[in-house]
Amino acid sequence: MNPFLFDIRNLPTEGKQVSGKLPASFFQLPETDTLKAESPLTYELTFIKDGKDIIVTGSLEATFSMECGRCLQPFKQKVELTDYQAEVPIEKETTMDLTDLIREDILLTLPNFPRCEDGNVDLRDCPAEGNFEPTDEPLVSEEPGADGGVWNALDQLK
Ligand SMILES: [Zn+2]
Repeated sequence: MNPFLFDIRNLPTEGKQVSGKLPASFFQLPETDTLKAESPLTYELTFIKDGKDIIVTGSLEATFSMECGRCLQPFKQKVELTDYQAEVPIEKETTMDLTDLIREDILLTLPNFPRCEDGNVDLRDCPAEGNFEPTDEPLVSEEPGADGGVWNALDQLK
């Protein structure tokens, strides 16, 4: 049974509470994707009807693995939405399915440009850090006196 699918007409005025776990396949991530769901989805949600909207509150938690855009190594990222809130307009007073909304809201919190050092499961420094980014430190060859010294000395011999 899908916990995020319910009939608005049967919704108690104080709201409907659901909690539990759903398998990682809930996220429907393609096998070929470097982004993978590594844990079940843990959810604890309340659905309340408020006029023309359904108000969703609660918490969501799942762990993903993805590829670092810099060193290309996989790392894990845990998503914890402890204060999740959504407002969904009621289109029909029949059944409502919030599966897509919840899936997308979780996936949207993942970084567009993942960096392994930002992972919150195994703390690490990206081994490729700085490889592709300009640094503020001047290059050695540009330092005065380093390479120029020889030529200065030759000039003085003339
Ligand atoms: Zn990295």
